[in-house]
Amino acid sequence: MGTQVHQHVHGLDAASCCAAARDEIVRLEQLWSVFLPNSEISELARRAGSTALSVASDTAAILRLARELHDLTRGAFDVTAGPLIELWRAAARRGIEPTEKALGEALALVNAGDIELIEPQTVRLRRHGQRLDLGAIGKGYAADRCIELYRARGIRHAFIDLGGNVAVLGGKPDGTPWRVGLQTPGRERGECFGWVDVCDASLVTSGNYERGYEFGARRYSHILDPRTGSPLPDDLRSVSVLHASSALADAFATALIVMDTQSAFEFASDFGLAAVLFDAGTIRLSPAMAHCFRSASSRAAVVE
Ligand code: ADP
Ligand code: MG
Repeated sequence: MGTQVHQHVHGLDAASCCAAARDEIVRLEQLWSVFLPNSEISELARRAGSTALSVASDTAAILRLARELHDLTRGAFDVTAGPLIELWRAAARRGIEPTEKALGEALALVNAGDIELIEPQTVRLRRHGQRLDLGAIGKGYAADRCIELYRARGIRHAFIDLGGNVAVLGGKPDGTPWRVGLQTPGRERGECFGWVDVCDASLVTSGNYERGYEFGARRYSHILDPRTGSPLPDDLRSVSVLHASSALADAFATALIVMDTQSAFEFASDFGLAAVLFDAGTIRLSPAMAHCFRSASSRAAVVE
């Protein structure tokens, strides 16, 4: 999944559990990678606008969830952003920004409402040229599967980090919660503006300052707004979401960074989401996050 995975598992069978979780992540990557021609996601793109594909139950489940999240976030989260992502990726390789025409054509193909779930496990993309990209939810889904796997094997204390997607089972063996630091955008890796204590939950951060598309001196985020087709500017913002489901935490973190900070704050408050919003040095906490966040500096976070 293009990232490093760290597992911290306590129990007699820990080593084989880690190996099984690794296999599970590889299995999901083989279903969903846009870079593997034999993945189900690649096959769905080839068949877009024509025939349906019978998919694995995990693929059907993640697409069902992704469609609901698209509606809930009013389009800020959209796994059918594939043509836009491909367009910006190719443009960055050439070093020339896409034309208005190309952008308009790609944007016209983006709409999660076009994911047809015909039977429980049969999927079709309605229009030719459409393609999926599960980059903003796949790691979270995989983290949930790994936590389930640990639990099913009798593990009671575990921690998994898939490139910033943290999920934990129970607390630490000493009875205290797992402590997850929140990276200060724009500062050296490991410098944290605060932390969240986590038990039996997931904490996922999306930042618009990491990776992205470069055109000479112009740099954009790897996250784009599916409603305009443009990548986010790489100003120093991040959103961290705490949720029982890592798939949801992952998707909501992406959706909230697409929204401006005020809209994200209102969305998180309305839906009772626990979120930390970092914007140009100001830290805002949604009401559900107020009791979970600890600031690293004496400067208090804004609690509303
Ligand atoms: P990361 O994977 O770096 O932790 P995200 O979870 O925010 O960050 O996912 C970003 C990836 O998701 C992008 O690299 C791209 O593949 C895809 N993506 C970008 N913008 C969106 C969006 N608005 N909705 C859904 N997927 C997106
Ligand atoms: Mg995400």
